[in-house]
Amino acid sequence: MEFIRDKAGDIEVIQEKKLKELLVYLSKHSPFYKELFSKHQVNINEIKSVADLSLIPVTTKDDLQRQNDDFLCIPAVDVIEYMSTSGTLGSPVTIALTENDLNRLAYNEYNSFLCAEGTKHDIYQLMLTLDRQFMAGIAYYSGIRKLGAGMVRLGPGVPALQWETIKRLKPTAIVAVPSFILKLIQFAKETGIDINQTSVKKAICIGENIRNTDFSLNILGKKITEAWDIQLFSTYASTEMQTAFTECAQGKGGHYQPELLIVELLDENNQPVAPYTPGEVTITTLGVEGMPLLRYKTGDICMFFDEPCECGRTSLRLSSIIGRKKQMIKFKGTTLYPPALFDLLNEREEILDFVIEVYSNEIGLDQVLLYLVPAEDNEECDHRIRAYLQARLRVSPHIKYVTVEEIQKIQFSEASRKPIKFIDKRA
Ligand SMILES: [Zn+2]
Repeated sequence: MEFIRDKAGDIEVIQEKKLKELLVYLSKHSPFYKELFSKHQVNINEIKSVADLSLIPVTTKDDLQRQNDDFLCIPAVDVIEYMSTSGTLGSPVTIALTENDLNRLAYNEYNSFLCAEGTKHDIYQLMLTLDRQFMAGIAYYSGIRKLGAGMVRLGPGVPALQWETIKRLKPTAIVAVPSFILKLIQFAKETGIDINQTSVKKAICIGENIRNTDFSLNILGKKITEAWDIQLFSTYASTEMQTAFTECAQGKGGHYQPELLIVELLDENNQPVAPYTPGEVTITTLGVEGMPLLRYKTGDICMFFDEPCECGRTSLRLSSIIGRKKQMIKFKGTTLYPPALFDLLNEREEILDFVIEVYSNEIGLDQVLLYLVPAEDNEECDHRIRAYLQARLRVSPHIKYVTVEEIQKIQFSEASRKPIKFIDKRA
């Protein structure tokens, strides 16, 4: 397989061929899709193009959780790895991979590292786990192997050890969760390490957003790059899709790998959205043997951009995750997602700390209540905060000013170790 950078026509032909293969495969081997096809009278011979996918009902996270075993298309003896992801109903969801699936995963991540300016001359320090059935860890590991680059598998946490190893083995890149990179920076500051004199020049950022949807760095991304002169590459993936969307050096959205996946962005009525419009990432895996998925709704809300990228690739790009579908707030005619609210509230020095609470009012509409710790307890500060929120949100949420002690009580009410910043009280 070669990475296809342009020729939209070729991509279409390849996707159609792989889609047809998938449909035949599912109708033969997948208990779940066999039943779905028969129940909804789907004639797979009528699906001739990617656009025809709209004739097939979507698959939800609940389907995958409730009928997890029915998604397996192969005998158990052919399963090489059992990976898992958190489900919607509490217990984890299993994703079983064959040898070919693991190779596909490696190829996918190899492309991702290439896209993020990786070469065999790089050395990557992996600051994440390869255990606990975590697919991403294995994906990075095997992608880097395929790239022929060097690797240091250090695992998550322990800033002292991370820095000691950076000093000793001189990695050029790190793969880490952005908030952990902040911890590394903090530790370096406290112990007098001059981070800009180290060998590290780039970071592959996983699990958390570093950008706003206009590609500018968000608070987290800014905090990292203000302290550390490294290039950040964001990557978005999920266990179910077994495929990553990774940024190139332009940093303008994660690049799509159309030979591995068909991606649709759908609205609440399962209709495709236009570019620059939030929609739910819905995927159809191509070339997966163990547990292929057809029109699977991931629950992640993103936007897509379809103009060619300055790097030369012409396939579409995905924004960072705007939010989770189930956290969507419809407030006074506006759609809001917690991550955007977090950024908004983090940005203002008048706001020292906050908790966002969402609840349903008596007629079932979403209401937003912000618990805020104001920098100053006076009317002027209150006016500035309200004017700012009105300008940025175009709606006025309810505000309740609280003290530092009071906010901590709210944030740690459920005996959690991390402060809770978003409380969803909707039915
Ligand atoms: Zn690009």
